[in-house]
Amino acid sequence: MEFETVIGLEIHAQMKTQSKIFCGCSTEFGAPPNTHTCPVCLGMPGSLPVLNRQVVESAIKLGLATDSVINRENRFARKNYFYPDLPKGYQISQFELPICEHGSIEIEVEGQVPKTIGITRIHMEEDAGKLVHDDREPVSYVDLNRTGTPLLEIVSEPDLRSPEEAAAYLKKLHAIVRYLDICDGNMQEGSFRCDANISLRPRGQQEFGTRTELKNMNSFRNVQLALEYEVRRQRDILLEGGEVVQQTLLWDADKGRTESMRGKEEAHDYRYFPDPDLVPVQVDEAWIERVRSELPELPDKRRLRFIHDFELTDYDGAILTASRELADFFETAYRVYGNAKKLANFIGTELLRDYGPERIGECPVKPEQLARLLIMTDEGKISGKIAKTVFAEMLVGGKDPEVIVKEKGLVQMSDEGQLVALVQEILAANPEQVQQFRDGKAKVMGFFVGQLMQKTKGQANPQLANKLFMQELQK
Ligand code: ADP
Ligand code: MG
Ligand code: ZN
Repeated sequence: MEFETVIGLEIHAQMKTQSKIFCGCSTEFGAPPNTHTCPVCLGMPGSLPVLNRQVVESAIKLGLATDSVINRENRFARKNYFYPDLPKGYQISQFELPICEHGSIEIEVEGQVPKTIGITRIHMEEDAGKLVHDDREPVSYVDLNRTGTPLLEIVSEPDLRSPEEAAAYLKKLHAIVRYLDICDGNMQEGSFRCDANISLRPRGQQEFGTRTELKNMNSFRNVQLALEYEVRRQRDILLEGGEVVQQTLLWDADKGRTESMRGKEEAHDYRYFPDPDLVPVQVDEAWIERVRSELPELPDKRRLRFIHDFELTDYDGAILTASRELADFFETAYRVYGNAKKLANFIGTELLRDYGPERIGECPVKPEQLARLLIMTDEGKISGKIAKTVFAEMLVGGKDPEVIVKEKGLVQMSDEGQLVALVQEILAANPEQVQQFRDGKAKVMGFFVGQLMQKTKGQANPQLANKLFMQELQK
């Protein structure tokens, strides 16, 4: 029997605000435990939450970027539960009236036509704190610094049909929140995390199968691996005539398998009800229009513009717009060095090897410096090979390319007199190869040029080298 995979993702993106969602405590990561707390986020009786306007603004941004309907009136609800890391005993979230609904984004999986994935809802909520379990003693600690940190939860429709599509969707949303500058996207620190719901159904069947939910995976790779594992696990169960149990699973990245965490909870278990401490949120037209007018160019649009304006391939366009920083880097360098294709190739091979799209901000090389390096190669001052060596050095210290070339004496040898002597030397030392060349084996030229490059540590001008060997061999 053939099965079809059905996946829906719930993503939690931590908002990049200075303070928490309902109090003035700092959201800074890594402070000593329990130092960023106050009566509100500690859940003291009598304390009252006050909504952070910036969080609403971030939600509007994401709503507009995903073509969602922005609910002019939306409301907070209490999600009741025993949370050891949320002292109030409930999480303030949104339930029947979230801020955004009915959105969508487009994803691309290599070799397939682009596909639209529905976004059911985007709502605002507060994060819980962090439990720290001691390995040696049967003791657990709680750090409430994260309690009350603003989150947007983005719930997709069950429109994804493979782990690969799920990863593409996750990456696209990640790029969008980063372009909007509302979330730092740091998956290791948990600023962008995802739960995945997955089920299988016999191909052709309308009705969805029973799903499991995979919790809190902290990298694109883990999401895909966990889903692939779960596809195999569920398929094995179904093929044996068994039934998938609806439950919440944890992905163990070290063991490469999922483990049962708890039975599936239902919405009614949480006894949601409107939070009486917070008035409904009113979003007026002027606010939405102001946010709309300030939206940056988003990844899809920028990718298409790159492909069109710079005559790049789809592949290059997608890579170069994978993050806003990388796209900015490319465009700044392009203004100085106008050969888009060469620039794209150099960035793709030499820069991205060390600094991925998310880490461009940490790269010590400025786009103008890279542009000047490439201009030096076009002018014949250094060879393409040397340019790579110089760039590797720039990546370490951020020095100017001109300085490195000068300090290391890497200027390309284009002096005929100097090179002719070496060419003659090489030919004299390799009579056998010279004979082969004369017998018509043109490929030997590569050997000769290679010898010259070795002698000059790659500094000989390759065009000139070819010309000189030809000249000498024809004498
Ligand atoms: P819950 O409130 O229990 O988390 P939701 O109905 O809100 O459940 O759905 C959560 C996520 O699960 C959504 O992203 C949705 O698309 C997805 N989902 C729902 N049913 C299925 C299913 N049968 N298979 C896979 N994903 C599903
Ligand atoms: Mg859920
Ligand atoms: Zn607080």
